[in-house]
Amino acid sequence: MTDECPEQQPGDPGAGPVARRLKVLIARDELAREVQRLAQEITRDYHGKNPLIIGILKGSFVFLADLIRLLDFPVEIDLVRLSSYGSATVSSGKVKMVHGLETSVRDRHVIIVDDIVDTGLSLSHFATYIKRRRPTSVKTCTLLDKPSRRQVKINVDYVGIAIPDKFVVGYGIDCNEAYRNLCDICVVEE
Ligand code: 5GP
Ligand code: MG
Repeated sequence: MTDECPEQQPGDPGAGPVARRLKVLIARDELAREVQRLAQEITRDYHGKNPLIIGILKGSFVFLADLIRLLDFPVEIDLVRLSSYGSATVSSGKVKMVHGLETSVRDRHVIIVDDIVDTGLSLSHFATYIKRRRPTSVKTCTLLDKPSRRQVKINVDYVGIAIPDKFVVGYGIDCNEAYRNLCDICVVEE
């Protein structure tokens, strides 16, 4: 991929008079290395513990799919859908659970997997929700981290890559449902 890919995709909110351009921030080979590193750490910490891995939809689905295939032990997955963004590129600050858990977390080792920790509100709300349900342990994992945007103090156990305060898309992460299928993490520029 070149470092700029100005093509529009169906549903692209930038299609129209104001064209949006995508600039690669994290290329696919760097993503692959980071996912491998995280998988090695998780394998080291959880071998023999039969953890339940909970992915936060929709943004984490590509990361989760790559991560779990590198875990060297049997895995169990559940998925929840949280929503803190409407259609805008700015957080509403409100966290809703749009689709809930199907598996009991009681007496389980739980790993929560998200795409991006931004203000920290979503992950901290959800981790509190899980902890109330009496798991044996809870750890959190994120592919991307925007530390400069934090509004709540939250400890993330497995962190991929810290990024600046930019709106990113690709590798499962969208802008109004577009761009999830990009292989690199890109910044949307107007
Ligand atoms: P937080 O609750 O930490 O503010 O935000 C968490 C969620 O907001 C992330 O898991 C992600 O789904 C979404 N988010 C944060 N930053 C971005 C971004 O740059 N691009 C997109 N598409 N979503 C983001
Ligand atoms: Mg998310």
